[in-house]
Amino acid sequence: MKPSSFNLTEQNQKVESRIVVALERVSEAFRVLLWNESKEYSLSPIQIQVLIFIYFHTSEKCKVGYLADEFNMTKATISDSVRVLLSKDLITKETDPADTRSYSLALTSAGKAIAKKTSLFASSIEQPLEKLTTEQKTIMLNGLLRLIHDLNKSGIITIQRMCFTCSNYQVDKGVHYCNLLKSRLAAHELRVDCPDHELQA
Ligand code: SF4
Repeated sequence: MKPSSFNLTEQNQKVESRIVVALERVSEAFRVLLWNESKEYSLSPIQIQVLIFIYFHTSEKCKVGYLADEFNMTKATISDSVRVLLSKDLITKETDPADTRSYSLALTSAGKAIAKKTSLFASSIEQPLEKLTTEQKTIMLNGLLRLIHDLNKSGIITIQRMCFTCSNYQVDKGVHYCNLLKSRLAAHELRVDCPDHELQA
């Protein structure tokens, strides 16, 4: 049996295990901060996440199926959240004129106000990062991008709109290039969620 990252003897001998445990601590911070927002608005964390997602993404991504993939949940779970948000008049359905069976979700003005406010929920995680040097931030970003890419490749997390999975992305001898922006990308400019992302075939 593989040793656990949470086994303290193992953990204190292996940097990978300590990184895993550190990431788990950070994920706990996200959970707590999101819960604080949820309590304030009597919404569940996933309902808040759906509002924030709709606020910042284009309408073709704001569909139940896409949201289910985005949040690694079943369509039924997302549909439940959507039902609550509709009943609270925080979102509306916008039918696609080309296909009346298909619809996107859009924010009402009340939904927009909550999304705008709650989208700042992670700012207390961003503040300590601002104290790091550019080199430290670049190393951290690249390590996380590689981790997310591998988790995506192994099917643990789904949709990723990052440079590494984009058909516009090229790398040659460690130099990153975006064919859409027609520009080199410095290591600290690699994107995690790009509006122009096109999935590799
Ligand atoms: S389009 Fe966006 S995700 Fe794709 S390579 Fe360019 S910057 Fe990266």
